Amino acid sequence: MPNNCCLNCFTGSRKEDSEDGEFEKEAFIASNNNSGKTKPVIQRSNLGTGEVSTKYQSFLLPGDERIRVSLDSADKSENYEKYFSAFDDVKTLFDPLRRGMKESNNGKCLGWIPEKENTYHWLSYKSVIARSLNFGRGLRHLGHKEKEFIGIYCENRVEWVLAEQGLFSFSMISVPLYDTLGPNGCHFIISQADVATVIVGDDRNLGSLFKNFPSCLKTIIHVEELSPEVQKQASSLGLKLHKFDKVEKVGKDRKMSYNEQPPQPEDIATLTYTSGTTGDPKGVIITHGNLIASVSATLSIITKSGYSLNSGEVIISYLPLAHIYVRMVQTVGLMIGCSIGFYNGKVDKILEAIQSLQPTILPCVPHVLNEIYNKSIATSSDSRLQSFLLRKAVAEKSKEIERGIFRRDSVWDKIVFHKIQTALGGRVRLVLSGGAPISSEILKFFRCALGCPVIEGYGQTETSGLAAQTLSLESISGHVGPPLPCCAIKLMDVPELNYSAKDGIGEICVKGPNVFSGYYKDPVDTFEVFDMDGWMHTGDVGIWLSNGVLKVLHRRNHVFKIKSGKIIKPEKIETICCLSPYVAQIFVHGDQKEEFLVGIVVPSQVHLTLSFPNEDLQKLCSKPEIKAKIFESLSGLAKEHKLQGFEQVKDIYLHPNEFSVEEGLLTPTLKSIRPALKAFFAPQIQQMFSKSVTKA
Ligand code: AMP
Repeated sequence: MPNNCCLNCFTGSRKEDSEDGEFEKEAFIASNNNSGKTKPVIQRSNLGTGEVSTKYQSFLLPGDERIRVSLDSADKSENYEKYFSAFDDVKTLFDPLRRGMKESNNGKCLGWIPEKENTYHWLSYKSVIARSLNFGRGLRHLGHKEKEFIGIYCENRVEWVLAEQGLFSFSMISVPLYDTLGPNGCHFIISQADVATVIVGDDRNLGSLFKNFPSCLKTIIHVEELSPEVQKQASSLGLKLHKFDKVEKVGKDRKMSYNEQPPQPEDIATLTYTSGTTGDPKGVIITHGNLIASVSATLSIITKSGYSLNSGEVIISYLPLAHIYVRMVQTVGLMIGCSIGFYNGKVDKILEAIQSLQPTILPCVPHVLNEIYNKSIATSSDSRLQSFLLRKAVAEKSKEIERGIFRRDSVWDKIVFHKIQTALGGRVRLVLSGGAPISSEILKFFRCALGCPVIEGYGQTETSGLAAQTLSLESISGHVGPPLPCCAIKLMDVPELNYSAKDGIGEICVKGPNVFSGYYKDPVDTFEVFDMDGWMHTGDVGIWLSNGVLKVLHRRNHVFKIKSGKIIKPEKIETICCLSPYVAQIFVHGDQKEEFLVGIVVPSQVHLTLSFPNEDLQKLCSKPEIKAKIFESLSGLAKEHKLQGFEQVKDIYLHPNEFSVEEGLLTPTLKSIRPALKAFFAPQIQQMFSKSVTKA
């Protein structure tokens, strides 16, 4: 359970926070009375100094709408409508690189590990600017013009950034493509945006494009050499092929022919398609102004709330750049002049890349943090002494963090947390979690284990990545902080769940310059997402906590009823189940026709192989005693977290392979795509339900 003593101290009236928002009815927003005492100032180590504010963290605007804004915009209550950039020298995505070059005094910008090496090679800021301009000129020479859409379909790598920056330098628009979209999704996007050129990494990215070939596609720019078969296939489709470095060279040779054409804030920067859970992908139109609003607001709030970032920071880039949250974080990095090191595209080598790079900033999605957490718990749960020490270490360090002390030189760091700190390179001083809900217990664990701030961000592609974010030195888990200074948030009634905005609970709605203007060529979906007053409805349900921070409860449309009429919020149950060291992933499913819930569990490989070193996961998954052990662990957690009987899974199926993006079961930020999981596991789900009928 997260420790809420700080909140209790100043509100005096809240019961313990919980994973499931059980305190819902007690949430209230009385006023903007800032009479709560501020906690003592923190002064500790190299990990940031400042104040942990337990006072109100957002400002309630006057009026019936109950609109909340950041304290940063509070003195000018309508500021969020006009907010543009917190930095005078940054107005579009053309600018962060140039700012970063000055901030870092032309320091290391983009790094990579060449094949068969284990140290990073770097391009300086100046080289990145020069090469991206060359690439942009090369595209101009191929006949592309401003406002044209260009596809980017490759793993994170230096060329991803060079390509996108090249596009921005000539006011062209990036359209990221990724595996989850599948051949039909790629076909749809390329045709809808009339994309004539796609930049790919290698052969692998071309599979989806060739399977359902869009006739408007004319040119492929490839970073790596393509195999003769792929080249043959491309030419039979009438495609022109150009190597990435050749396009750069063509641009370099024609330096004088094409002057850069930087964009304006209102120009479209990227068309980012969300995988969508049903139907075709939707193209979120994001302008330069939209992204700069969220990027600069995030950066300014991190700094203002007590944390200093500088050009010495090093970021690891391994989360898919197709996702706007990841590009947002990298743009923050470029703005401060930090170094961004790419992993080498091999998922099983990410940890090695981290150890070689030794990042100071670790961007994460909850799934990644869950995995690291499971590994840490798994290795300590073998011995009673170790698990006692781990619990004690978390408890002791939590107390310090509540007092604003983030450090890694305590006795607990030496005897318990040293291993995880070293595994992550030993220098992490800021963790960012976003893109999906994270368990408060896991967030708290990382604050303790890494001895540094862990910031949680909440937002959507439609809000250019973020809309709310915890303050830098926040010590309490279980919420996503106040609105960013670039937007306002209000909650609206959800009649089908009996939620009323006047009780501080409802659908999260956002307004501000970071909010997109609509879906590309899709007036129907655009009309649906905005109301008459211009508020964008996120489809997420949230609740204001008594200090003006937002807690996200669940997706409005993921809630379902089971036969008894009881309402189920599956994310809440899944978050709790993932705390089991046996569980790597879980999908909880139920149905209006069924009495109870069932779960598809991917067991944690580390945990099981530690206990059964000589058996493979596939075999272990078929053993009744393993299933019984995992079931018991889930039941224990359900009890500990006070899940009601109808919220507990009554049967589970063990699946040996992780749900993956490639299979179309996860979004790029590794969120479950529920309808896809339901379809994929239909036979197993059916079997679990029918077994119960047979028993009855
Ligand atoms: P996407 O547009 O793919 O980034 O997905 C955005 C959705 O992810 C949001 O609407 C939320 O449902 C979820 N999400 C993102 N960040 C958080 C968070 N910190 N807590 C809970 N849900 C989140």
